[in-house]
Parts: sequence; structure tokens; C-alpha cells
Amino acid sequence: MKLILNWAASCGGCDVSILDIGSEILKALEGVDILYWPVAMDAKREDLEAIEDGSVDVGIINGAIRTSEQEEEAKIVRKKCKYVVAYGSCACFGGIPGLANLFPKEKVLKRAYVEAESNEEGETIPSPEIKLDDFTLTLPEFYESVKPLDAVIDVDLFVPGCPPSIGTIKELLDVLKLIAEGKQLERRILASDKALCYDCPRNATKSGKRIERLYRPHEVVANDEKCLLEQGILCLGFATRGGCGARCINANMPCRGCYGPVGVAGMSGITATAAIVGRWEDEIPPAKLIEALNIKDVAGIFYNFTLPVGRIRNEKR
Ligand code: SF4
Ligand code: SF4
Ligand code: SF4
Repeated sequence: MKLILNWAASCGGCDVSILDIGSEILKALEGVDILYWPVAMDAKREDLEAIEDGSVDVGIINGAIRTSEQEEEAKIVRKKCKYVVAYGSCACFGGIPGLANLFPKEKVLKRAYVEAESNEEGETIPSPEIKLDDFTLTLPEFYESVKPLDAVIDVDLFVPGCPPSIGTIKELLDVLKLIAEGKQLERRILASDKALCYDCPRNATKSGKRIERLYRPHEVVANDEKCLLEQGILCLGFATRGGCGARCINANMPCRGCYGPVGVAGMSGITATAAIVGRWEDEIPPAKLIEALNIKDVAGIFYNFTLPVGRIRNEKR
């Protein structure tokens, strides 16, 4: 089997996560020919371009699309590969980099290059074109907003998670094995169609009582056997696809939704929260409800991984 791995607007965690399966990776890579993987081997754009079109079985791309360079490379990978996998929440939904869509690009660049505390006095935003003797150096275009991978190319398989869990990576390896045997892809997303609560070991402790106030995780010491939502900690397990093995809950932390929504991004969490906390029937205006529930960061909670695919997208600017 021939494989390409590439990254776009990514923290690098998705590439590292592939190593999470430990020594099993050695077995998994038997008979696999990795033609391009910039994180792990010295390779340049020309090496990617030189690969024959359609000759690679699978291309795995992590990270969202923020620049023209990332879009161009995604399109090259698409041309070379029979199947393309969007690996990780950034590639699937825009992920955490997608929260930048709350701001115009000028503000993002100013924050990063001028205002950030680690910058030295007088630093400026890089110019898109720099002339150096006989050369003109052109930087890739920084787009107005962050996009998920399937906004620029067709994607065959979505593998969510920030990063995908070990269980999900093993499922992906099984899929790769099937592809190597010449079988067709049968799934579009390596996550459950049901909410995480169904897989959660604490689900049975839910009593359905009305929750009066929500707490941020640092405001209370959570009982590590009871449903976190029951304790007033906003856990998005009811609005998030299962498949991660409830790994945050196992660490006594609430789900933040990295496996993507069951339903509409962001809205499923908001409406389900309103219903679960029993305020829906009170007809409280949304802003008051958010205040009453002590929700400090609406976008960061309900759209933490999905703003570029959510309904509010850039409208909040
Ligand atoms: S999905 Fe998470 S781990 Fe993967 S690149 Fe994005 S931020 Fe990093
Ligand atoms: S709300 Fe969270 S803690 Fe409660 S059952 Fe669902 S996933 Fe588990
Ligand atoms: S519990 Fe939620 S945030 Fe944590 S890994 Fe699972 S889906 Fe992602």
C-alpha cells in the first residue's frame, strides 16, 4: 500500500498521535510505502508533485485550511490519491484554529505578529512580497477565514478527534487494511452516530434532575463516579458523537466536543443544554439564559472545534 501524510493548519498533535499506538505501528506499517510525510522525513513540494497522479492508495491530511499553500497542497494530494482521509478535528471541522473566524484576518495577524507578549517591541506584520536582490519572495495568501478540508477538496473518510483516540486510530488502520485488499470504503466517518453519553461509564448515574447553575471545571471538585452534567459541569457528551472511549470523562474532565456534533454544529449543544437544564419552557431570552447558567465563553464551549462548519461562522465579527 502506498501512503501520503500531510499537514495544513495544525498543531502537530495529529501527526504525533499516530505514534500513540506504540509498537503496534511497526506491524501496521509492514508492507506500507510512505511516499511523503513532511513531519517525519525530509520532503519538499517538488517531491509531492513528482508522484504520479492516482498512483497512491491513501492520502491522510491533518489540520485545517488557512492559507493558499495549504489549499494547493491538499489539491495535489487529492490528485495523487485514490482515497483522502481528513484526520483530526481541524481537518474535519476547522478545529481550534477555526475559532480565529470570530475575528477579521487583520486582527489575527496583528495579534500574532505585533501584540503577542512574546514579541519584541517594533515587530511588524510580514509583507506578502519581499524583494531580495534578484529574488521576489512571495508568502502564501493568508485567507479571510479557516476552512475544513472538505471545503477545498473531496474527502472520502472523516476521522475526528483532537487528536483521534488510540481506538479510532486502530479503526483507521483496519480501514487501510481493507483498502489494501481492494475493498471499497463503507464508512464516511470513524465515529458513532450516537452521542457519547451512550458509551459513557457514568451514564447510569444520570437522574434527570433539573440543573440550576453550571460550574466551570475549576470551580468544583467533581465526583469521579457521577455524570459530570448532573454535578452542574457542562459536559457536551449528549451532543457529541461517541467513539473516543469517553477519554476526557475518564480523566474526570467534561467532554468539549472534539468528535463533532450529533446534529448541527454548535446548535445541538446549545439547544440540548437549554433543554437539559430545564429552562427552555421558561422562555428566557438566550442571552439571559447564558448569564443565568454562568456560561462565560459561548463560542469556546459550543463551537470549540466546529466554528467553521457552524451556522454562526463569521457572522459574529
Ligand atoms: S485536531 Fe487537535 S491535535 Fe490535531 S492538529 Fe488540530 S489541534 Fe492539533
Ligand atoms: S453528560 Fe458527560 S459525564 Fe454525563 S453521561 Fe454524558 S458524557 Fe458522561
Ligand atoms: S470526551 Fe469529548 S472532548 Fe474528550 S476526547 Fe471524547 S469527544 Fe473529545
